[in-house]
Amino acid sequence: MKNIKRCTRCILSENFPKIEFDEKGVCNICNNELLCSTDSVIIDKARGEIKNLFDVARGKSEYDAILCYSGGKDSTYTLKLAVEKYNLKVLSFTLDNGFISPTAFRNIEKVVSKLGVDQITYRPSYKFMKSLFRLSSLETIYNPRTLIRISANCNSCISIVNNTALKLALEKDIPFILAGFTLGQIPCNTIYYKNNYEFLKDTRKPILDKLKSQLGDEVSRYFEISDSLITKSGFYPHNINLLTLEDITENEIIEEILPMGWEIPKDVDGCSTNCIINAFNNHIHNEKYGYSPYELELSHLIRNGQIARERALEKIYDRPVDQIEYTYRELEIKHN
Ligand SMILES: [Zn+2]
Repeated sequence: MKNIKRCTRCILSENFPKIEFDEKGVCNICNNELLCSTDSVIIDKARGEIKNLFDVARGKSEYDAILCYSGGKDSTYTLKLAVEKYNLKVLSFTLDNGFISPTAFRNIEKVVSKLGVDQITYRPSYKFMKSLFRLSSLETIYNPRTLIRISANCNSCISIVNNTALKLALEKDIPFILAGFTLGQIPCNTIYYKNNYEFLKDTRKPILDKLKSQLGDEVSRYFEISDSLITKSGFYPHNINLLTLEDITENEIIEEILPMGWEIPKDVDGCSTNCIINAFNNHIHNEKYGYSPYELELSHLIRNGQIARERALEKIYDRPVDQIEYTYRELEIKHN
């Protein structure tokens, strides 16, 4: 596995879709410098517009923002930014997918206490979550284009996170939904945007139909929002990814959050700082597609000088067998 051909500058591998290498072994994405220069223009513009959005809405609702808080390093730092840098009244929201590391839960408790924010944890039925993960592991539910930056199981989980956060925002008239994604995980045009559930509904329908045909109507509870709630609230919040505006390395993020009592969990793989199922998700993705779902994000961070190439390689090759086996057993998936 380790002798797979990779870009000599980032870590994209020969199995990554549409990858090409030049005579020096540098990939086509690294060579496309144009991408990087437009990034900084877009980020600068977003900074100003996000500041204006916050200034107009701050203090007008019970909460200024709901923050999707996984307990991982990136969302921990995003929560700190929201409270301390942007001066927002934040409701912290955690989805317990049944596989959150106990250390991550302790981190959440310590950080929300330290920052003085309200915290909601929502745990969907474990039975449902296991059947959802089982399905997205074994079958092809999502568009292959989505899967270049995320594993199928992460995508299933994040869909519930996003839907629940939107539901809470609509119920409580919260104008902003914050998340801790980096620009390797999400495209530039999603640094901030006005949520438009109605518009997305049509594009999501084929996926929801697939999920419902296998898992039943229970899917609606976790993946959809009732028409009555949409009509009643009559507004859509903005989704904002504050971390994309920061020029900060991974080590600097960790240095910023350690003083709040945050600890690095030891029961997760190198690509996660909160979730035990991640090792399995990456394993399945690697087996199916021949590359890690973290290659694109980590490569972006390498190009930006936010992580060393060696460190990124360590992360994707950290594949704890005990966590992978544990998940196979929990999801009742047989394997050799
Ligand atoms: Zn490259």
